[in-house]
Amino acid sequence: MSIFSKKKYYIDMRNNQKEALILTVKPQGESNRLITYITKEDGICTSLLYGGPKSKLRSLVSPWNFGQIYLYNDESKNSSKITDFDVKKYHPSFRENLYKTMAANVATEIVITTKCGGSSQECFTLLNGFLDGLDLLSEEHSKSGLIRFLWRYLGLLGIQPQNFTCLKCDKAFFSGNLSQNAIEYKSGGAFYSQSENGFICEDCFKLMYDSSEKQFISKITSKAVVYLEATALLEPSVSRNMTLTINEIEQLKDFVFSLITLGVGKIKSLQSGIGIL
Ligand SMILES: [Zn+2]
Repeated sequence: MSIFSKKKYYIDMRNNQKEALILTVKPQGESNRLITYITKEDGICTSLLYGGPKSKLRSLVSPWNFGQIYLYNDESKNSSKITDFDVKKYHPSFRENLYKTMAANVATEIVITTKCGGSSQECFTLLNGFLDGLDLLSEEHSKSGLIRFLWRYLGLLGIQPQNFTCLKCDKAFFSGNLSQNAIEYKSGGAFYSQSENGFICEDCFKLMYDSSEKQFISKITSKAVVYLEATALLEPSVSRNMTLTINEIEQLKDFVFSLITLGVGKIKSLQSGIGIL
């Protein structure tokens, strides 16, 4: 390594900047804060923010603000300090809506707990897409937005069911064309098998006599399976444009919440927000 490149390396480490989404802010010492944020390159990171309550930078570095973060990294002291934050997106509707705040909390907790599910880049895109969408949606549409985010996150974690046809007979839960929204759903609904991580149609379910297997089964509608399939495999607009009733949303929500809890473990923000989410 030449003297020149050594010097350049030294400067780069001291003056680092990247796109970041602020996740959590925690008090550290008397007037400082420990900031957890996510970047595309490095996933979950933490840095210190110095300054008292009147500091302008402190008001900018708030949860779910997105922008260019400027850092002073000192490798010898193993410390990282935020020197500036140029906010590009604020997600203003979160402050006025408890549901949105809680939904954003759930997504944030899952991302931190699972350390981006092993893929910083995909996780960064997924989380930012969810929060940007949440900011624009009505509360009613936010509910299906959270379902879609959690379902895609199960995909990122590699624990989403692989198939959306019946595990036993391989029949689809719909007929027709999904992209054109001209479809008929299979009657009888779908039975989710936890042990096999997939769906079983009513005809095959009736043939199952093993009660131990049946213990780990929950029932959802065929439409719900198709909605999850569209969310997992098709362009976002397809599932976004599928209309769900309040009952269908509630049922899907319970199902997806239980799957994400099985996959990730206890999610505190999900439990504390259960009456609202
Ligand atoms: Zn079947």
